[in-house]
Amino acid sequence: MTKLFLPGPVDVDPEVLQAQAHEMIGHRSPAFAELMGRVQPMLRSVLGTSSRVYISTSSGTGLQEAAVRNVVQSELLVCICGAFGERWFEVAQANGLPADRLDSEWGQPNRPEQVLEAFGGKHYDAVAIVHNETSTGVQNPVGEIAEAVQSISPDTLILVDAVSSAGGVSIPFDSWGLDVLLTSSQKCFALPPGLAFAAVSDRALDRAREIAHRGWYFDFLLFEEYLEKNATPSTPAVSLIFALERQLQRMLAEGLEQRYARHTHMAEYVRDWAQAHFALFAAQGYRSNTVTTIRATRGLQVPELLMYLAGQGISIANGYGRLRNETFRIGHMGETSLADLQQLTTTIEDYLATQPDQQA
Ligand SMILES: *Cc1c(COP(=O)(O)O)cnc(C)c1O
Repeated sequence: MTKLFLPGPVDVDPEVLQAQAHEMIGHRSPAFAELMGRVQPMLRSVLGTSSRVYISTSSGTGLQEAAVRNVVQSELLVCICGAFGERWFEVAQANGLPADRLDSEWGQPNRPEQVLEAFGGKHYDAVAIVHNETSTGVQNPVGEIAEAVQSISPDTLILVDAVSSAGGVSIPFDSWGLDVLLTSSQKCFALPPGLAFAAVSDRALDRAREIAHRGWYFDFLLFEEYLEKNATPSTPAVSLIFALERQLQRMLAEGLEQRYARHTHMAEYVRDWAQAHFALFAAQGYRSNTVTTIRATRGLQVPELLMYLAGQGISIANGYGRLRNETFRIGHMGETSLADLQQLTTTIEDYLATQPDQQA
C-alpha cells in the first residue's frame, strides 16, 4: 500500500471505497433519485450555498469548460498565477471565447487591485480565478477580489476554480456572492477521481439563458432541468455517487469547522518543517492550507527523493510544469492527519541523512 501525499488523487477511506461496491441501480430508478435527493443538501452545506450543486461525471477541468461556456458571451478576464489559471485561459481559447489574461508572477497571488486595474474601463461578462493554485501553493484572496469586482462592475460574474481547496478550506459561496464554484472529487473531498461538482448561482443560470451555444454535456440549463427531478442529463458514475453519499456523511460528522481547522494545522506543520529544512515557494500571507510547494534548495535531487519515498511506500509530488525538479509538493488535504505528515517528514529527514552533501 502506498500512502498518498499528492495534491490529488488522495487516499480514500476504506469505507468510502467499499460504498462503490453497492449493487448497480438504474440512473432513472426511484432509488437513484432518492440517492441524489440525499446527496444534494449535503453538497450545498459543504460548498456554502443554498442555491444548487450540479454533479458532473467528468474531472474538474470539464467544469472549467462548463463555467466559461455557460456565462461568457463577449469578454472574459482570466486571472493567472500558475498552471491551473493558465489551463483555464487555454480552455476559454479552445472554445473560441474572447479572453484577456491577468498574469501575476508565479508564487504571488492575483491581488484585488491588479484585477481592478486589468478592467481598464472595459466590460467583462465574467472573471475567472483559481482559489488555490496547486502548482505554486498559493491561495488567492477570492473574497476580496469578488468584492472589488462587484464594486465596479456588479453584473460581472465570478467564476472560481476551487478544485484543490473546496471541502478543506471555507469558501462561503453565497456570502461572497460567487456565481460558479467548481471542484473535483479526488482532492479535498477524498473520493476517487471521476466526479466534479459545481455550485451555480441564479445569476449564472439567468446568464446561461442568454447564451445560444452552451454545448450539451456541460449545459447548466440541462443540469438544472434534471436536478429538479433529482437526476442527471446523461448516465452518471452511479458507483461514485454512492461513495459521495458516504463521504459527505463523514465530512459533516467531522464538522466543517473542525475539518477546516485540521487543514490549517496540517498546513502550519508542513510550512514550519519546510522552512526549517528548505524554503517555501508561495508568498507569505497567501500560502495554501491544502498543498505546500517547497523549493528544492541545498542541492536536493527531487527525482531521487521521490524514488526513496516510493521505496518506503510514500508518494509526494514533483513540481508542476515548469517548476518540476525545482520544487516538490506535499498535499495535506482530504483525510490526511497530522500524524501521517509527521511520519512523512521523518522519512524525508531519513533520506536527507543519507545524503551528506545535502546537509543544511
Ligand atoms: C487538480 C486541479 C485541476 C484539474 O482537475 P481535474 O479534476 O484533474 O480536471 C484544476 N484546477 C486546480 C486548481 C487543480 O488543483
